[in-house]
Amino acid sequence: MEEKVAHAKKLIEDAVRKYPRIAVACSFGKDSMVTVHLAREVDPNIKVFSIMTPYKPRETFDYLRAMNKKMNLGITVYMVADSLPEALRDGYLEVMLLPPEEFNEKASQIEADTGRAIYETNPDECCRLLKVDPTKVAVSGLDAWITGLRSTEGSTRVDYQEIENKGGLIKINPILTFTEAEIWRYMSTRGIEPHPWYQKNYRSLGCAPCSHPGGEFERDGRWQDTRKCGGECGIHTQRLK
Ligand code: SF4
Repeated sequence: MEEKVAHAKKLIEDAVRKYPRIAVACSFGKDSMVTVHLAREVDPNIKVFSIMTPYKPRETFDYLRAMNKKMNLGITVYMVADSLPEALRDGYLEVMLLPPEEFNEKASQIEADTGRAIYETNPDECCRLLKVDPTKVAVSGLDAWITGLRSTEGSTRVDYQEIENKGGLIKINPILTFTEAEIWRYMSTRGIEPHPWYQKNYRSLGCAPCSHPGGEFERDGRWQDTRKCGGECGIHTQRLK
């Protein structure tokens, strides 16, 4: 694993040197925590941002606040909401609230038409409005971003490259070849405390209604019982610029 760690750091180091406007995306899942830790070993002042949604579990907000403080991440959170959730009120956090009107209108319309929530009937649209569009805002001033994407997470992630260029925005995937076991080994050897949901047998963490424990592959628990099962929210598949 240490060769992969050295390789990941080299990728980050080269990217930091080449792209001054760079940041790390952090969802506060295990892969993000490893990526952020690696990136900060290369550049302790590297920018870190996170896309949160009102559907993230309370435990994610609590973990985000705790790790932001403990690791001194200086994180910027982007979130579609009209006011700051109580769970994110913290003097250490910078939260950029994004206008919720389009999401509220679409979610209300779907609920009125179907009697069901937007994330059940149209998770692609829900993810677009709550995750993809906010990510576009977060990367708008960047030349490059660093993510915790890994090839063995599920069938949708096998074809990524360590360095990608989509529409001029460079994406660095430094832990692409890490296995799940190597992620846990890195976490334990570096003393990084994991999100509490991993103790409940979750293998991939997203919004509460769309994440479930277990699964043959890590992402199998995402969007269960929808056509998006095991799929992608869109930030890695759609153009962000
Ligand atoms: S993961 Fe689920 S709740 Fe979260 S934005 Fe996507 S569809 Fe909506």
